[in-house]
Amino acid sequence: MKRFKQASSVIKTLTENGFEAYFVGGSVRDSIIGRPIGDIDIATSALPEDVMRLFPRHVPVGIEHGTVIVLHEDIPYEVTTFRTEGDYEDFRRPTSVQFVRSLDEDLQRRDFTMNAIAMKETGEIVDLFGGQEAIVKKEIATVGNPVDRFQEDALRMMRGIRFVSTLGFTLEEGTKQAIIEYGHLLEHIAIERIAVEFEKLLVGTHCAKALQLLVETKLYEHLPYLQMCGDFISKAAEHDWSFFKNDIEAWAFFLYCVREEHPSVFLRQWKFSNKKIKEIVSVLLYVKAREKQEWDACLLYKAGKDVAVMAERVYEGIMNTYLHSNVEHIGKVYDDLPICNRQQLQVSGNDLLSWSKEQAGPWVANVLQKIEEEVVYGRLKNEKECIKEWLHRCNLL
Ligand code: ATP
Ligand code: MG
Repeated sequence: MKRFKQASSVIKTLTENGFEAYFVGGSVRDSIIGRPIGDIDIATSALPEDVMRLFPRHVPVGIEHGTVIVLHEDIPYEVTTFRTEGDYEDFRRPTSVQFVRSLDEDLQRRDFTMNAIAMKETGEIVDLFGGQEAIVKKEIATVGNPVDRFQEDALRMMRGIRFVSTLGFTLEEGTKQAIIEYGHLLEHIAIERIAVEFEKLLVGTHCAKALQLLVETKLYEHLPYLQMCGDFISKAAEHDWSFFKNDIEAWAFFLYCVREEHPSVFLRQWKFSNKKIKEIVSVLLYVKAREKQEWDACLLYKAGKDVAVMAERVYEGIMNTYLHSNVEHIGKVYDDLPICNRQQLQVSGNDLLSWSKEQAGPWVANVLQKIEEEVVYGRLKNEKECIKEWLHRCNLL
């Protein structure tokens, strides 16, 4: 595969200098499955200082965890020293790690068998825990005893269910039972780490299946601020989530489904960025507006094209109609709007002041808004002379 070929020179540099190095994790898993691969991760016996020495173009992102980002032909690769995770405290990922000599120990610390497969630069596979067999069976099983592995790091339970969503696989029975029994340990996990996995779940191809599993295993009871939402999440799982195009739409739809009355508070508690919160809340606002009326020029103008299209898709989801044509229609109507923002208006506050004998004051903004509305609705031409004449006719000057 082209991507691995490109990355192979990173591995070669390491092996030619006497170190071991392998492709590991998600990229190996996805290439075996035959789905598009994401980032390519490399595991090596070289210590971070060796990696930094061998690759002058690097970013030391997490040296204490053994990770250095190496840039090769402008593509970043996460190169991580073989490690175990020492002692786990409080059901959380440890803060300290121990570097180890062998690949075997490194693979053993990984969460699921399908994620614990290594691949040499030649394409030769190292699969110590039956990862390939699990992929054939479409099964998500922990490396070793699930109870132990979830006690070490409870986030793995959330990861298991998000892989159900992204891959459409099924949880191996023992792994599922352990989630049912030890779900409460998720309460020890930082909300930021949960949020990353939960978002991947929401945008996954098999989201509905994963949501159903969240309810079935009762893991949702240990998700921040969703403890009471089992029935709503079940209902949400009946929808076709593949209709949504991005994380913003998926979050807006999810928050609508769980009837969150204060989405911005929820999202702030889940530690999302202000920018993202603003986008999701704004989409939800226009979903509410859309429930009361059809899109007209004014509503579209206020929302802006991107928000309107996202809000329509969420609305289509709520109504169970999923009409692509309605979404496309909005795009066309928006493109036909006479203006898209106030800057495109052919008169400014200064024009109004120069035409009027009145002093500056709040009236300027009010009149501009009236003009804007007339122009947006297509009742008034966006031309200076027409606008001036209209103002006189309406006694607004
Ligand atoms: P994706 O393609 O969705 O990113 P991924 O498998 O690459 O999936 P990452 O979160 O990028 O998932 O993690 C990379 C690898 O690191 C995993 O494949 C797994 O081997 C290991 N890993 C990640 N998180 C954990 C964890 N909490 N416990 C054990 N191993 C983990
Ligand atoms: Mg990854």
